[in-house]
Amino acid sequence: MPNILIVGSSNTDMVVQTERFPLPGETLTGGEFFLFQGGKGANQAVASARMGGTVHFLTKLGKDMFGQQTRKSLRDEGISPDLILEEEGIASGVALILVEDSGENQIVVVPGANGKLSPEDLTKAIPFLETADLLLCQLETPIPTVEALAQLARKFEKRLILNPAPAQALPESLYQNLFLITPNETEASLLSGIALEKESSLSEIGDWFLSKGVQNIILTLGEKGAYFHNSSRQFLIPSQKVKAIDTTGAGDVFNGTLVVALAEGMDWEKAIQTANRAAAISVTRMGAQPSIPFRSEVYGKQ
Ligand code: ADP
Repeated sequence: MPNILIVGSSNTDMVVQTERFPLPGETLTGGEFFLFQGGKGANQAVASARMGGTVHFLTKLGKDMFGQQTRKSLRDEGISPDLILEEEGIASGVALILVEDSGENQIVVVPGANGKLSPEDLTKAIPFLETADLLLCQLETPIPTVEALAQLARKFEKRLILNPAPAQALPESLYQNLFLITPNETEASLLSGIALEKESSLSEIGDWFLSKGVQNIILTLGEKGAYFHNSSRQFLIPSQKVKAIDTTGAGDVFNGTLVVALAEGMDWEKAIQTANRAAAISVTRMGAQPSIPFRSEVYGKQ
């Protein structure tokens, strides 16, 4: 099974179902309340583990009730505890999530301990980085830590995938150390400054990332699927048609599945098809981590 090193956030998601989002200043009576394990890093780590990857996950928790729960749940998923760090005097990360009956969501993330994952913490990951087939990170941890990871990836000649979520401006030097970037539509437009208003915008955005030094680009397009772009090939792989109930974490399932598929040696088409299939399954179920499919479900649908 492939060795994957994931660096990123862990959160506890507090999810409220609501008929519609409240207007500013408005109070609504919600539907059901759920408490889920979340955070983009942890979601992607769980997706990779459920796909059969051997996952080392560098993350930071607070010494609190939520942190303990997260540690236990990651262990139960078979994720190695070696790189799950703890910091005194800061809360574990939390996310407040509203999910409309339509499946649309609104999220506020409070980083807590995730904001303390430092470039120095990466030194603990070096032994695992050396044996990893692929590296994966997101932007819910400090940018200097992501930059330092990218430099380590270059030094050890490892392929690094960046899922640039949540969207924010990035240092130019980061791009040239990326094997692959996987923005969604909002992130792609924000980073490139190119609006996604027509079909040709996809290749314009792809070219923009290539010009920055990224080797490969996958734009995830929600229910439309995913678009691949590098210097020699560009193509769109449509998503599976499903009835979406909760799209929270769709991108995380896509990335966590994709990294295992690529590490197993699948070609781009097959890896993206597999990631699309896993993400489509996840949007038909509530929550981020609970909705992540297992390998048997993803391949059972082929
Ligand atoms: P994010 O969750 O980061 O906003 P996207 O909305 O682009 O990312 O979704 C990521 C992937 O999840 C898509 O490329 C697609 O494979 C899958 N997906 C998302 N929404 C749907 C949907 N409604 N139906 C089927 N697949 C979906």
